[in-house]
Amino acid sequence: MIPYGKQDINQEDIDAVIEVLKSDFITQGPRVPEFEQSLTDYTGAKYAIAANSATSALHLACLALDVGKGDIVWTSPVTFVASANCALYSGADVDFVDIDPKTYNMSPEKLEEKLVKAKLTGTLPKVVIPVHLCGQSCEMDRIKKLAEQYGFKIIEDASHAVGGKYKGTPIGNCKYSDITIFSFHPVKIITTAEGGMAMTNDAGLAEKMMLYRSHGITRDPDRMTEESHGPWYYQQIELGYNYRLTDLQAALGTSQMKRIDQFIKIRNDLADRYDDLLSNQRLSIPKQHRDCYSARHLYVITLHDQNMHKTVFEKMRSSGIGVNLHYIPVHLQPYYKKRGFNDGDFPISEDYYSRAISLPLYTKLTHAEQDQVINALLQAVV
Ligand SMILES: *Cc1c(COP(=O)(O)O)cnc(C)c1O
Repeated sequence: MIPYGKQDINQEDIDAVIEVLKSDFITQGPRVPEFEQSLTDYTGAKYAIAANSATSALHLACLALDVGKGDIVWTSPVTFVASANCALYSGADVDFVDIDPKTYNMSPEKLEEKLVKAKLTGTLPKVVIPVHLCGQSCEMDRIKKLAEQYGFKIIEDASHAVGGKYKGTPIGNCKYSDITIFSFHPVKIITTAEGGMAMTNDAGLAEKMMLYRSHGITRDPDRMTEESHGPWYYQQIELGYNYRLTDLQAALGTSQMKRIDQFIKIRNDLADRYDDLLSNQRLSIPKQHRDCYSARHLYVITLHDQNMHKTVFEKMRSSGIGVNLHYIPVHLQPYYKKRGFNDGDFPISEDYYSRAISLPLYTKLTHAEQDQVINALLQAVV
C-alpha cells in the first residue's frame, strides 16, 4: 500500500537521537531549548514553546489566552478534532465558521457574516482558530483585521504548515496572530514522533505556556508568594499539566529542521507534477491563493460527481493506494452532534466532505509510485 503520508528519517536523524540516549539527559536537558531556537530562527517569531503534541500546544495556547467557562472559540469544521477540542478542554464552548469553496480554509466572508450576527446577540468569540489546511495559509490579513474590529484573539493551527509562507514571510512568525501551533506527528512536514510547538511574539503568553506545560510550577523567586525555603524550593502557582517534549524527540526535530526547505521543495515539486498530470474533467486539483506558498502537507482533489466519491475511494484502496479523507467535518462527529450541531449546519464543509480525496504525498514518494496513483485515479473516475 502506498500510504498518504510518511516520515523521512536519515542516518543523521538516527545519530542525533542515539547521541542523546548516550548523554546525561534524555529529557529536560539542552536539546529542547535548542529545538525551540531552531524554530524561532526559522520563523522569526520571538518565542517557541515545545510540547509533546500539537494537541497539547493548542490547549496551552487556550490556557495562556485565558479561555475558560463562558467563552466561545470558533474554528473551521474542516480540521482534525484537536483544533476544536482544545477549547472544550479549557471549559469554553466551540462554534464553527464555514470554509471557502476554493481554498477549503476558513472563509473570511463567512467569518465576517457570523461576527456581525454574534455582536447583535452578544456571542462574539474570545478566540478564533484558523486552520491552514493542507499547508496553505488562511487569508490572515483579513482575519487579523476582523480580530482588531471585533476584539478576538487568534491562534493559527499551522499543524500542516511549518515551512510554508504567507505573503512571502514564514508561517509561524505570528505577524497576524497571537500564537501559532505546529505539529510534528510523522505524517506532517517534519517529525519528532509525537510533538508540537507554540510560537508567539508575546513574552507574557510565552511565560504562561511554559508554566502550564510543566504542572504550573515555577522556580522563579519573583513569581513566588513567599520567601524561598531553600535551594530545593519551587511553587505550584497554577494547575498545569505534563505536556513536555523529551530531549530524544527534540534532537530528532532539530536534525529534521536542517532539511525542512528541502522537504517543502520536494513536496511542492510532487504537487506540481500532480497538477500537470491530473487535468481531468471529472475532478478539481487544489487551488492555491496568490498570497501563499504552501507547505503541501496534503494534496486534496475533489470529484465533480459526489455520487462517485465512495466508489473511487474504494477502488483506489483496493489498488493499493492509501488515499485518505481530511477531514470528516468536526460538527458531524457524534460528540459534537450531542452538543447541538446538525447535518446542514456548514453546507460548504459538508459538500467538500462529499467530494474530497487526499492523494499520497510525502518526500520519499517516487515518480513511479506517483504515476501508479495517477493511473489508479484516472481509471477509477472513468
Ligand atoms: C495533526 C493535527 C493536529 C494535532 O496534532 P498532534 O501533534 O497529533 O496532536 C491538530 N490540528 C491539525 C489541523 C492537525 O492536522
